[in-house]
Amino acid sequence: MPNQNLLIQNANIIDGTGAAARKGSLLIDGERIQAVGHAAETAAARLDNVPRFDASGLSVMPGLIDGHVHCTFDDAAGHDELFYHRRPGMAAITAVRNIRHMLTAGVTGFFDADSLFDLGVDLKEAVQSGVIEGPRMAVGGYALMTSVGGAAGRLMPDTGTMAYARMVRGKDEIVAEVRRQIKIGCDWIKVHVTGSFAHRRSEGEFVTFTVEELRTICDLAHDFGIPVAGHCRGAKAIKVACEAGFDQIIHATQMDEPALEALLKHKAFIVPALTFQANLMEFGDAIHASPVMQDIFRKEIAGSAKMFYKAFKAGVPMVCGTESGFSVTPYGDWHYREMEVFIRHLGLTPLEAISCGTRSGALALRMKDQVGTLEAGRLADLIVVDGDPSRDITVLGRRDKLRMVMLGGKSIDLTRVEPERKPMAEWRTHDFGRILTQSIVQQARGGTPVGGNESH
Ligand SMILES: [Zn+2]
Repeated sequence: MPNQNLLIQNANIIDGTGAAARKGSLLIDGERIQAVGHAAETAAARLDNVPRFDASGLSVMPGLIDGHVHCTFDDAAGHDELFYHRRPGMAAITAVRNIRHMLTAGVTGFFDADSLFDLGVDLKEAVQSGVIEGPRMAVGGYALMTSVGGAAGRLMPDTGTMAYARMVRGKDEIVAEVRRQIKIGCDWIKVHVTGSFAHRRSEGEFVTFTVEELRTICDLAHDFGIPVAGHCRGAKAIKVACEAGFDQIIHATQMDEPALEALLKHKAFIVPALTFQANLMEFGDAIHASPVMQDIFRKEIAGSAKMFYKAFKAGVPMVCGTESGFSVTPYGDWHYREMEVFIRHLGLTPLEAISCGTRSGALALRMKDQVGTLEAGRLADLIVVDGDPSRDITVLGRRDKLRMVMLGGKSIDLTRVEPERKPMAEWRTHDFGRILTQSIVQQARGGTPVGGNESH
């Protein structure tokens, strides 16, 4: 049952608007925030026996909104897993666990960009109707792709569906698929505007739709009030997508001046989703990632940081998305991380980064002015943490520092222990780990060659 009333007192309030943290109180009435600061104390004084929560030494802030998640991928280590190892039933069941895991990590809302077997809508409705517990969700269905494919190149078929994608051939199939997705209840249409060929990797990602096709998607979706999100890496892709009417640009790592102008002119927002690269770059050694790969990602972040900062300062809303769903961005662990990347690599202040991870995230959730800030009248989606995220953002990644997660005025049980998870048959592709060459063994043994200990 939601709390009727609750007064959170003596808290360090970070309201998500970018304003400086301040000491004070917050009054919750049912599913909403009734008042913040002095007004909360005054309003509470007029009520009988309002339950009080003493938050001395703690911070209260809006719940995290993760603007880029794949909740049905179950920490996939690569395309192989997504394409050939997942089954619809098991993908849905594991997603239920992972969705709750995100909630208990402080995520009160997320955008599921695309999903295996089109499961997003069902998961969202299961949450909405109380069948399962989870954050607020906005969902895409299958990502639209042409036969050129996205990041998986020739592994993608020319027609039909594969994993999280539907190949569309020409206008008729585009129109049919967009209408189908709108009918089943998708909140966004997700399009792989760019894709790459493995055999032409050095040329970067190509725009794989014609401008006319991109316009068809946007016009049709917008007729039904549905926005469109596009995976776009290159500058040209960002520009043509904005001009075609895209509302959300994912990645945008090669933005240039004309692309930035197009973003501003057409009022699209961006979701850099750099956590994937940042995790591999900084922590990849712990999982024996290749230094070459780490270097590629290091360059991608360094090379895009200046333009992201410029876009942010120019007024392009920037949303935090963590790409949770892959083995380098597992659910529950890294939802604060994009904010840290924005601070450390792009140069945002902690308060600016927090507003990207809360207030701006509401854009991806399609709940602008309803969630994402602690203001009177907003839904009471908030977290209480031991520490001050406006000084040290990493406290948001510490489960032991999380004191409360509240969703629509309802406090979430953070004490429930999930059953221990064991490997599932045929679910993972990395059973044996890295390729076990003799030189790796030799390295691990401090230079002793294989068989080198034996005396002959
Ligand atoms: Zn993604």
